[in-house]
Amino acid sequence: MKIGVNCGHTLCGAGSGAEGLFRESEHTRLVGYALMEKLRGAGVDVVDCTIDKADTRQEYLTKVTALANREELDWFISIHFNASSSHKGQGVEIYTYKGKQYPEAEAICEKMERLGFINRGVKQGNGLYVIRKTKAKAMLIEVCFCDNQQDVDIYYHAGAAKAVSQIIFNCIYGQGGNDKSAGKAQEKTEKQAAFIELVGTIARKDWKERRIMLPSVVIAQAIKESAWGTSELARKANALFGIKENGWKGRVYIKEAIEQRPDGSYYRVDDTRWRSYDDWEQSVLDHNNYIATRSTDGGNSLRYGPVIGCGDPELVCWYLQRCGYATSITYAESLLNDYLVKYDLTTYDEI
Ligand SMILES: [Zn+2]
Repeated sequence: MKIGVNCGHTLCGAGSGAEGLFRESEHTRLVGYALMEKLRGAGVDVVDCTIDKADTRQEYLTKVTALANREELDWFISIHFNASSSHKGQGVEIYTYKGKQYPEAEAICEKMERLGFINRGVKQGNGLYVIRKTKAKAMLIEVCFCDNQQDVDIYYHAGAAKAVSQIIFNCIYGQGGNDKSAGKAQEKTEKQAAFIELVGTIARKDWKERRIMLPSVVIAQAIKESAWGTSELARKANALFGIKENGWKGRVYIKEAIEQRPDGSYYRVDDTRWRSYDDWEQSVLDHNNYIATRSTDGGNSLRYGPVIGCGDPELVCWYLQRCGYATSITYAESLLNDYLVKYDLTTYDEI
């Protein structure tokens, strides 16, 4: 599979984009480069069709198209942010040749809608040079309006370029798309299969009864946090999730915690008190209790409110990160890519 990605517009001068509440050309690059990285990581051949500088707008467009047409691409994807003269325009829209309703394009709009954006749909884009002149299947994505405060708030709140690039990636290549080679489950070892089945059975039963947390995400978290049940907490405290004491009435296990700062650096907290259980089942059920009841503002609101009962695994992962479940800045991405897709965990969500 070979995909061309164009981070829309030059950086400045001729061909540069909208100047909204943030600069369009900056965020087309944040989204586009994050997308390219994910695609490369999945083994896709990526052709970077981004042009940073041109003397005229036409030169910019011609150069982008030439880069795209030099290769046999399965997709050409151009990333943009919208703007309107009234600054009142809102939502996501995608342009394709003759307005072709590609399932991938429709899926991106739908997933964006679930983040809170208005879905303006897939539209006829013959008037756009890069849509008209590229040979490959092409889509130009207007992520949202960069000059509208509500859209910008939704964008940042959802996780900005990280969240948007993940959605595009999933719809083009991963679960949401229709590429048969995508999202292929990895062969599991016997021990891994047994671990997934054990946690999955408990998580599915509890989901059926209490609808707190989607089983696939519970399993992914358990694998990640306990290293398939081999971590010190899993062995000595029967804890598959690193949940700190916070109001827990039962036994505790004391060991250090490693936390990550927003800038990516790590620090250590000695003598952290962790919840300890009788068995792994109690650990899974308490994890769901914790998600259902945790409040950090004295009971006024539920910290993990958006997670509770949510049926979309991708959104659950992003919500967990957004609500501060883990300090790791790549937590959601890792849950999704390293476990959910790889081990086909969503089969446990079907009841
Ligand atoms: Zn643009």
